[in-house]
Amino acid sequence: MQRFMPTVKTVEELKALQLEGLKWTVNHAYFGSRAYREKMEKAHVRPEDIRGLEDIKKLPFTTAQDLQDGYPFPLLSVPFERVVRIHASSGTTGKRKVLSYTKKDIQDWAHFFARCYEMAELTLLDRVQIAVGYGIWTAGVGFQLGCEEFGAMAIPVGPGNLDMQCQFLVDFQSTVLCCTASMALLMAEEVHKRGIRDQIALKKVIFGSERSSDAMRKRIKELLGVEHLFDIPGMTELYGPGTGLDCVYHTGIHYWADYYILEILDPETLEPVPEGEIGEMVVTTLKKEAVPLIRYRTRDLTRLIPGQCPCGSILPRHDRILGRSDDMIIFRAVNIYPGQIDHIISHISGLGSEYQIILDRGEDGKDYMTLKVEREMGMDPSKDMELKRRVEEEIKKQILVSAAVEIVDYGALPRTDRKSKRVFDNRGI
Ligand code: ZN
Repeated sequence: MQRFMPTVKTVEELKALQLEGLKWTVNHAYFGSRAYREKMEKAHVRPEDIRGLEDIKKLPFTTAQDLQDGYPFPLLSVPFERVVRIHASSGTTGKRKVLSYTKKDIQDWAHFFARCYEMAELTLLDRVQIAVGYGIWTAGVGFQLGCEEFGAMAIPVGPGNLDMQCQFLVDFQSTVLCCTASMALLMAEEVHKRGIRDQIALKKVIFGSERSSDAMRKRIKELLGVEHLFDIPGMTELYGPGTGLDCVYHTGIHYWADYYILEILDPETLEPVPEGEIGEMVVTTLKKEAVPLIRYRTRDLTRLIPGQCPCGSILPRHDRILGRSDDMIIFRAVNIYPGQIDHIISHISGLGSEYQIILDRGEDGKDYMTLKVEREMGMDPSKDMELKRRVEEEIKKQILVSAAVEIVDYGALPRTDRKSKRVFDNRGI
């Protein structure tokens, strides 16, 4: 029996619910927050102007800057006596983002996080080992809150401490592991090294929002012997983790459209991209009290997945996070994201994962793209021509541009950390 799925049963009902939530949010923010009211006044829009879902276009965008400007309690739309908790982002650039929650916000978050576990087809007998960070961040408490609301057994371990993690996997017979992809890989290798795979009972791993390569996922699945890997998206601004999950068919991430509206916009023009194309995720909450979000630009890139999922859910789907809009390249009037190149080369065997994109302006005034890709370790260079042709064809087919591909030796491109510089734009202005 489903206990946490939306109460509405058809797409029409879902849209009606969204409109009701949108009207409520705009009204609530306008009268509850001076910052929001000033933004709306500047955009010449009032709550009564929102009559249909399409009127969302009239509303001004909210950005990370708005959160920073209002530090430490930005965009607060309720009096302080209604705030029961705050969380903060890790704050890698500039000030931390601090978000406030009312009691109802916490209950709503627990409810839709419980839906994640339901989507992953857990039962009350599942034992959920939570190996993400606890503290001011939303991760640990989010996973735990949702687990308890769902009714499975939470084992709150926190990150790291591989010794204890392995011991708990054996002693408590945990069936679900929640962690980042890199932590899952560490755990998988540790389980393998200790030779305890046949003593553990893991069936499912739920990944936090860190990006993971297909190769990494394959290795985790093999070493741990699990049936399913799920991707859980989330950001502090939008409650925290748990704002969607892929179902057991793994055709994309179902997102909770009864809690927020997701627009996918071209980051340059801020107009919607056609369904299925990549753009920036812009979110508007429908029920959030303490800090509602109105057209919040997340800078994360993804695409909507058209069509219906075999699971029959009316909840729409988006792809995994494919990168940041700040990384976008405009080449011959086409928007290109490094994540798209990543995706193409990870699906062609014989290639490594390192690449560089080089953009030049020719004497004819046209732009040219060169893509350098490493050959897979130990691969014979005699296949280079064939590989080059395949990559060029896929780029043409999937991104609709031409690139000259060079296959280089394994290890030839520099390695730094996850944020290696991959794009070299020599085109001037
Ligand atoms: Zn599905």
